[in-house]
This record gives sequence, structure tokens and C-alpha cells, in this order.
Amino acid sequence: MITIAVSKGRILLETLPLLARAGITPVDDPHTSRKLIFETRRADVRLVVIRAADVPTFVEYGAADMGVAGKDVLMEYGGGGLYEPLDLGIARCRLMLAGPEQAVPRARRTRVATKYVETARRYFAARGEQVEIVKLYGSMELAPLVGLADLIVDLVDSGNTLRANGLRPYETIADISSRLIVNKAAMKMKHEQVKGLIAQLEAATKTQG
Ligand code: AMP
Repeated sequence: MITIAVSKGRILLETLPLLARAGITPVDDPHTSRKLIFETRRADVRLVVIRAADVPTFVEYGAADMGVAGKDVLMEYGGGGLYEPLDLGIARCRLMLAGPEQAVPRARRTRVATKYVETARRYFAARGEQVEIVKLYGSMELAPLVGLADLIVDLVDSGNTLRANGLRPYETIADISSRLIVNKAAMKMKHEQVKGLIAQLEAATKTQG
């Protein structure tokens, strides 16, 4: 049995068609069911549906053999405990530094609001800039509007959310897409099954409409 960890929301929407092309279709609908474990039409594969930020943890600890995680989540998770054999090319967006249309001069140290604390820390450290990072769990775009932060580090797709809030992108930190990740022990112990699935998913990414 191979367990694949996926997350609800945008990634699930785009991952399910990809899995379906590899013959992996959940018996119940993960969009509406409250189940956390989903049997699939393939007897050898099941899905667990969890929070996006938890996917690398489940896979690293072997609770899932494989997972689908955004590059943003993987960058923030860090560590070398996982294989990342395949770029699935889905849920594409950019991790960006953004801020007000007109930058406001200030006397104090720049404050940056983000969910991606570690990634932001590395980014500013590499630039030799000292900033104060404020951890948020969502709605980063609000922070500059209410004086909580001067800048944000967040995912940007169309840029509509930034624009709607009087913000603009300053710089791309990383191009993001979802990646297939694999537990290192599973890659050895379940080599044939895991290799087979990677090959099927790779083929599925190439037939994407
Ligand atoms: P947009 O307005 O199209 O630029 O989308 C920006 C909003 O959608 C932000 O709140 C992001 O956090 C979120 N977002 C954009 N792309 C993704 C993605 N690939 N995965 C998850 N959230 C995303």
C-alpha cells in the first residue's frame, strides 16, 4: 500500500485530475467528505488529506510514503529529509516581496508580515538587510494597510489581491509550483511501487490539458 498526502484547496483541485490520469481516483469526494483517509479505485494507493504545511512532516516521518506540496511549503519546511523527484507543474504562482504602491518613508526598522518566516529571513539575510519579521497565518495583504507591517512576503498569482489592496509586487523571491515528495525509506523499501507511481505521474503531467 502506498499512502499519498495531499492538501485541501487549490492544490487538491489541481492534483486530483493529475492523479486520475494515473488511475488514482478517490472512492469518496475529498472536496465534500469529512474523511481524512480516502481509499481509491486502485487497491494499492490511498490518500490522506491534510493541511498543506503538514504534508512534508507526514512524508518525512513515513506516515505517508509520498505527498504533493507547494515549493513555498517545502522552502519553509527546509531540511533534507525528503526526495523531491518531480515538478508537477500545477498551482503555479510566485512568492513575492510586495508593498504599498507608494513606499512610505519611516524611521524605524522595516517590518515584514508573512507566513513564510524562515524563507523571508533567508531572503533578507542574503541581501544583508535587517528587518523585523511578523508572523501571520493569512490575509498578509491587510498588514500594510493597517500599519502592522511595511512590506509583505506572500504568494501572488494574478496580482489581483495586491492591486485590490493598493499594493504592488516589488520582487520575485521564488517561482512556485507543486512538487511530488517521497519519503527516503519508502523510496528504498517500496522501490518498485514508488518508482512506478513517479513514472505514471510524470506521464500524467505531460498529458495535461
Ligand atoms: P492573486 O490575487 O491571483 O494574485 O492570488 C493571490 C492570493 O491567492 C493570495 O492570498 C495567495 O496567498 C493566494 N495564492 C495564489 N497562488 C496560490 C497557490 N498556488 N497556492 C495557494 N495560494 C495561492
